[in-house]
Amino acid sequence: MDYDIIVIGSGAGGGMAAWSLANAGRKVLLLERGQTGISPQQGQDEDFMLRRMNGYDPESYRVNGRARRMFSAGLPGGGSSLYGAVLMRPAAADFEPGLFYRNYLPPELHQWPIDYQSLLPYYRQAEQLMQITIRSTDEFTVVDPPQDALNQVFPLSPINQRLERAITEHGFHPFHLPMAIDFSVCRNCPTCPGYLCPNHARSSTWNRLLSPPNRPATLEIREAAKVNRLHSSGTQISAVELDDAEHTIISAGIIVVAAGAIQSPAILLRSGLRDDSGQTGRNFMYHAGALVSGLFLEDTGTADIFTKQLGFNDLYFGSADFPHKMGYAQEIPIPGPLSIRDHLPLPIPESLARWIYRKSLTLAGVIEDLPLGSNRVSLGADGKISIGHHFHPYDIFRAGYFKKHLAGILRKTGARITVGGTSEKEERHTAHQVGTLRFGLNPAHSVLNADCRMHFYENLYVADGSFMPTSLGAPPALTIMANALRVAEIIQKEH
Ligand SMILES: Cc1cc2nc3c(=O)[nH]c(=O)nc-3n(C[C@H](O)[C@H](O)[C@H](O)COP(=O)(O)OP(=O)(O)OC[C@H]3O[C@@H](n4cnc5c(N)ncnc54)[C@H](O)[C@@H]3O)c2cc1C
Ligand code: SF4
Repeated sequence: MDYDIIVIGSGAGGGMAAWSLANAGRKVLLLERGQTGISPQQGQDEDFMLRRMNGYDPESYRVNGRARRMFSAGLPGGGSSLYGAVLMRPAAADFEPGLFYRNYLPPELHQWPIDYQSLLPYYRQAEQLMQITIRSTDEFTVVDPPQDALNQVFPLSPINQRLERAITEHGFHPFHLPMAIDFSVCRNCPTCPGYLCPNHARSSTWNRLLSPPNRPATLEIREAAKVNRLHSSGTQISAVELDDAEHTIISAGIIVVAAGAIQSPAILLRSGLRDDSGQTGRNFMYHAGALVSGLFLEDTGTADIFTKQLGFNDLYFGSADFPHKMGYAQEIPIPGPLSIRDHLPLPIPESLARWIYRKSLTLAGVIEDLPLGSNRVSLGADGKISIGHHFHPYDIFRAGYFKKHLAGILRKTGARITVGGTSEKEERHTAHQVGTLRFGLNPAHSVLNADCRMHFYENLYVADGSFMPTSLGAPPALTIMANALRVAEIIQKEH
């Protein structure tokens, strides 16, 4: 064996698992297809990052029949190097989807084999490792701040003080988003989520765990090392094959796949592994959404400073007049003027796009989307990845209801015009991608067992967002990190 353990993918899940296993003394090789080297200036440039998509998935896939580049991570640290760092715990009831979806799905298609309590110690550990700095005031996003020094309060910007009042006036309960950002060094940039952090104020698995001096001595990392497939022999995975000219083969006692919910099932499908459930690649989810922007007469500050500060959970489980589970809501920054121009149906001058950028404020509602077998990552005859995805009408129905509340809140904040939509046709913004390798108790309905080990195989584990049977009403990264720590501990105990 070349290594004790090979981990594929250095993102939220893979980075955590690799760090944990190496920190426990195992000889770990972490293979990451992306590379470091984007300069701080490039990492903050809208054209470089969001138009030319440097740092994002370099491949183009056939999505609903059309070639598309996806906004999924393709660099060391994975999504944690690009994300908004809102590390929020879900609610305990998120792990009992049958309470909400029994009329839509049979239990075997959504059941979680573990509950919130079993993940709780790992949530705490992940929160400490990622150095969450803002104490949330909401009941199910309560974090245990690692130490008082990091329990920083980031004062609300003037527009957010108004937004906070408007959410309250709307009858809801605003809370400060729990974020893994060290505000003592943060530069307060308007370009945060989707961009690279210029000075590592924002925690990623890369900067907090995998880069020197934090990298454990027994952890070796190879960048620009894309895995093509696994080699198996009976119930054992014997080696990993790289997608390079030499088809390099590397062996290890344990393989942990954590290449994200698109690439992980593709690797397993390419490897021809046994899956009695036929679920590999199925149940692809990335949250349905409601997005509403308000246009104000005055500058909102979104073009100059960091504004993603507030959220609310009042519609998480629906409301008295709309008893349907949905999810959380938060502010999201508009990425920049180029994105405004690219998303409008008619061409507008750059000066107008800049004006809109300065005058706007955007809220997003996140809706837990249903796991559907027809939403699927598969391989074409040429071996290339195809994705078929359409939201269930129930997802869009709930998003439509959420949208009205977001517009109402923005108007109470002072917006003169609001424009919004739901993610009915959204195919590329798959930032919250999960599912595709569902874990469960029954091999007839799940790809992984409750330990996230692939049924039938003794040494193949999954530690990214693919394990999730449902997408939760909260953002996924903290749950993925917590579960990766859990999986690493299981590997430690069992091997
Ligand atoms: C712009 C943006 C904002 C976001 N904001 C938030 C937020 O505020 N809060 C939140 O909870 N979540 C957020 N997310 C989502 C979050 O980042 C993801 O849920 C999380 O990173 C997924 O973790 P993962 O381990 O499943 O995959 P990833 O973090 O995507 O990691 C997969 C890794 O595998 C690598 N890889 C892929 N294929 C291969 C291969 N064949 N061989 C080798 N390596 C491979 C990729 O390059 C990548 O580094 C955001 C994501 C984005 C993109
Ligand atoms: S706002 Fe702060 S955390 Fe975000 S990119 Fe800028 S320095 Fe980094």
